[in-house]
Amino acid sequence: MSFFKPLENLESNDDQKKEKKESEQVRCLIIGSGPAGYTAAIYAARANLNPVLYEGLQPGGQLTTTTEVENFPGYPEGITGPKMMEQLKIQAERFGTDCRWGIATGVDFSSNPHKVVIDERQVIEADTVIIATGATAKYLGLESEQKYMGSGVSACATCDGFFFKGKDVAVVGGGDSACEEALYLAGLCNKVYMIVRKNYLRASKILQDRVFNHPKIEVLFERNTRELRGDKVVQEAVLIKKKDQPEETEEVIRIDGFFLAIGHTPNSEIFSKYLDTNENGYIKTIPGTSKTSIPGIFACGDVQDPVYRQAVTAAGTGCMAAIDAERYLAEHGI
Ligand code: NDP
Repeated sequence: MSFFKPLENLESNDDQKKEKKESEQVRCLIIGSGPAGYTAAIYAARANLNPVLYEGLQPGGQLTTTTEVENFPGYPEGITGPKMMEQLKIQAERFGTDCRWGIATGVDFSSNPHKVVIDERQVIEADTVIIATGATAKYLGLESEQKYMGSGVSACATCDGFFFKGKDVAVVGGGDSACEEALYLAGLCNKVYMIVRKNYLRASKILQDRVFNHPKIEVLFERNTRELRGDKVVQEAVLIKKKDQPEETEEVIRIDGFFLAIGHTPNSEIFSKYLDTNENGYIKTIPGTSKTSIPGIFACGDVQDPVYRQAVTAAGTGCMAAIDAERYLAEHGI
């Protein structure tokens, strides 16, 4: 099966036809523009690999949806996520990275050079590919969740918590992220409910202790969310207790904000036919390296990291990927 759309199905104008026929050759193609992608670009450009970077669906990555980043070393006063990404891009371009708008929509890693399709029409042939496509927050999939997106529903407390200062909010999930989000929100809000589907938290002990000891946080175990209600903005959540049990009951909590913290999905779908991934879709890398199961293809950042998922770790693995790519090219005399 081919990942490439049949050419005759594409819109036709002269420029596009020209583009379709030509495939561009690059030594190092970087897919994704978060801290991992830009750091890979800085290193690859400085090593004369002439990298081309495609920015993807969300240029700058997940950090562009956050406000202040205070834990990235070297910024004692903190920096906003969008500003940091802007500076990383400038730094990557300063050394010659060709940063472009565009989304990788298909790949063919069955032969060398590797082929990546951009925006379903242009083919890039790359000697090395660095995958830095990140991860996307998961949602429950409720209709009402979609309805109130941006009107009370959020998957990022650090981005949006500020808007709920002094208000009542709920966080869904029982892992480390949910606890961190709940604790963060408890510093801003009047009351924080944690909606946990099991009868225990899966988070680390230290975070659990902080949650249980926080006077503003109330953990609601064995609850699932049935729907959100409100007039234009979220005003209440309807929960069901002990789903699928005879004593299932419905209860309503009054809230202004509804935060999801139920995990992330790695953006690896287009690569999974070729590359080894774990049971959750994270691209597997050889421990201590950015090497995937195919020589010449490297992965960095959240798409291969289910554990740390920090800007600084993403940047670190981006650096590794560029160094691994450079060595691969040298070893193969490319
Ligand atoms: P996790 O997968 O660890 O936890 C997800 C939570 O969401 C679980 O409680 C899960 O419930 C719940 N959940 C999943 N789907 C649904 C659903 N449809 N409805 C209701 N609840 C649902 O994800 P995290 O993002 O918390 O953490 C990911 C990784 O990152 C972990 O390894 C974590 O340790 C790490 N991390 C570490 C941090 C730190 O050390 N400071 C901070 C943040 C993350 P259930 O338990 O029932 O499956």
